Amino acid sequence: MKVNSIIVAAGKGTRMGGEVPKTLINLNGKPCILRTAEGLLPFSEKLIVVIRPQEEAAFKEALKHLPLTFVYGGDTRRQSVERGLNQVEDDCDIVLIHDGARPIVNPEMVKSLVEAASQTGAAIPAVKVTDTLKRKENKHLETVDRDNLYAVQTPQAFRRETIIQAYQNCADDLTDDAGLVEKMGAEVTLVKGDKTNMKLTTQEDIGLARLYTKDWQRVGMGYDVHRLVTGRKLILCGVEVPYEKGLDGHSDADVCLHALMDAMLGAAALGDIGAHFPNTDGQYKGISSLVLTQKVQELLANKGYFTYNVDITVMAQKPKLLPYIQAMRDNVARALKLPTDRVSVKATTTEGLGFVGRGEGIACMAVCTIQSHNSNN
Ligand code: MG
Repeated sequence: MKVNSIIVAAGKGTRMGGEVPKTLINLNGKPCILRTAEGLLPFSEKLIVVIRPQEEAAFKEALKHLPLTFVYGGDTRRQSVERGLNQVEDDCDIVLIHDGARPIVNPEMVKSLVEAASQTGAAIPAVKVTDTLKRKENKHLETVDRDNLYAVQTPQAFRRETIIQAYQNCADDLTDDAGLVEKMGAEVTLVKGDKTNMKLTTQEDIGLARLYTKDWQRVGMGYDVHRLVTGRKLILCGVEVPYEKGLDGHSDADVCLHALMDAMLGAAALGDIGAHFPNTDGQYKGISSLVLTQKVQELLANKGYFTYNVDITVMAQKPKLLPYIQAMRDNVARALKLPTDRVSVKATTTEGLGFVGRGEGIACMAVCTIQSHNSNN
């Protein structure tokens, strides 16, 4: 299912006061908007961020390493969303529309929303109201029945044609997009929301958001060895390295990416690649390990983990790998959607010692750090 996401960050944030737009407020070392974007990126083939032109430089600085499309917003929320919708890919199935000021994205919730919207056309996260509600008019106080009341959040998920039709159908400027779908008389599914999926609106929200966004770090390591044989290509970090021999194995035998995947899985305590991609399974025969690396990244994202940086050390007596290091780094960075300066690849010989030194095989070690802002992780 192809998902495009629109993050709306073109509001003036007038209820917050202060000089800095609320989406640029620092939450434990990261601007709010970066947390928001990182939360949606793993689920989005294209991520569109709607901003105010006068804040372009600040947003580009905050989000500089992420693959995003920036769009200028309009005077109203409606205009801003419409400009985002104009950038959605023709062949995308689901559009997620999310507030830039909601930095705590629950991955399980996003998956449920996409799933529900693919079935009914529209799905929104909702939390049952638990406080007693009162309505005050003049001096008269009245208790409101809260039984069927929900507080609605974002991201809101729509089939592409549903949300485009809803916008064409109705010219109102509403506070949420599902409202336009409701006005068409179409179905909107409620999905269980998350109370930590808060929206930065007033000054007092910032302290709470800082509590919720404390990052937790984990480290993992991986190690792998493959035998060098004739008649096989030598693939390292997805780069084909010219050599008289290649690595033997069930997949493309990319020893570097195997070590990296085990480091990533190890950091999240999610087992190893043998468990996830067994070599007895025909679908993995000859598969590019770059594809498997993206799958591992998805496994981590589904648990709320982001890979922060990786360091790969490949041990090979021959061939000389220096000319290929940059291409190897670029491949890993692309697969993990990371800036290249968070991907390190180093090569060493073993001074002729051991099986590596005798040219019988290539070994690789990898280390990575992952982050999560869920204290249960
Ligand atoms: Mg292996």
